[in-house]
Amino acid sequence: MLTVFSSPGHYVQGRDATAALGPELARLGLAGPALVVAAPSAERLLTEVWRATFGSAGIDHAVHRFGGECSRAETARIAAAATAAGARTIVGAGGGKALDAARAAADDLDLPLVSCPTTASNDAPCSALSVLYSDGGEFESYQLVRRNPALVLVDSSVIVQAPARLFAAGMGDALATWFEARTCVAGGVRNMRGGRSTAAAAALAELCHRTLLADGAAALAAVRAGVVTPAVERLIEANTLLSGLGFESSGLAAAHAVHNGLTVVPQTHPYLHGEKVAFGVLTQLVLEGAPAAEIEQVLGFCRRVGLPVTLGGLGLAGADRELVERIAARATAEGETIHHEPFAVDVRSVADALLAADALGRAHGPSSD
Ligand SMILES: [Zn+2]
Repeated sequence: MLTVFSSPGHYVQGRDATAALGPELARLGLAGPALVVAAPSAERLLTEVWRATFGSAGIDHAVHRFGGECSRAETARIAAAATAAGARTIVGAGGGKALDAARAAADDLDLPLVSCPTTASNDAPCSALSVLYSDGGEFESYQLVRRNPALVLVDSSVIVQAPARLFAAGMGDALATWFEARTCVAGGVRNMRGGRSTAAAAALAELCHRTLLADGAAALAAVRAGVVTPAVERLIEANTLLSGLGFESSGLAAAHAVHNGLTVVPQTHPYLHGEKVAFGVLTQLVLEGAPAAEIEQVLGFCRRVGLPVTLGGLGLAGADRELVERIAARATAEGETIHHEPFAVDVRSVADALLAADALGRAHGPSSD
């Protein structure tokens, strides 16, 4: 098996970074017209900045308002809008689903993608992977696209205007990176790009984990106050760049499969990707028989930053065995990344791990639900 590392071509982060978007496109030779796929919040905050920055670079642009779900229907709408605008570059601006939809449409049209996350809520911005859902919000499939974004541009002053809950959810997603990478590297399994992990990707995943533990709580406090600090910048980088490169180039394991399992239950739909992944981390550690001290560290971190550690924290208080087995059945579906674990997993063992993780979470302290 070959060793493969995959990353965006260029990464830019900082205060008011959006003002540099047009010149960055020009510098990288990304031609207009650009179609901006914008979540409503991005459109509200950035319409004037886009006008100025694209104008200064002499790049025409049009805006397509994202429909809210990364579904086949939405990616077709984006592709139609891009074709109508004669777009030669697609810019995604918003949360993970808006970026994923823009990425899938850009790949369908063989156009370069520029990724401008307005939240640090997940590890989607840097990747060459879109998560597709049904129009009803149920996980459907992963779409592996040919290329990572040509440019990822993260405006820290925009990130801190998003709800703090999104920032915390990004830490939940980033929390999974090292644990899933570790499992994949130890097992020598294929990463998301079909190769073995580089030492570089594993080191980035480990740095992601250390950054979360060192700066996570302080960064979240700053985001709650709506301010940018060095800790916030480090966490944005951890949630976006380190987590993105770590998961893509080292691999996913049980935590994300448990997330996918949780999405089959409609009560979990109001909860964010990273919130479900955080509980997936806890479940993975139980499933792997991880040391108690490690589980305790994860529980403590999740509690400090308000990530769910119980089924009740995901709208599933009092879930019975039958419901938990439905989640486990989806988590263990053929082709799921849970099969990267170095032992056989089945519905029974995963349902047991989910219930044991829930019991540990409930025993750990006051419920956050
Ligand atoms: Zn994720």
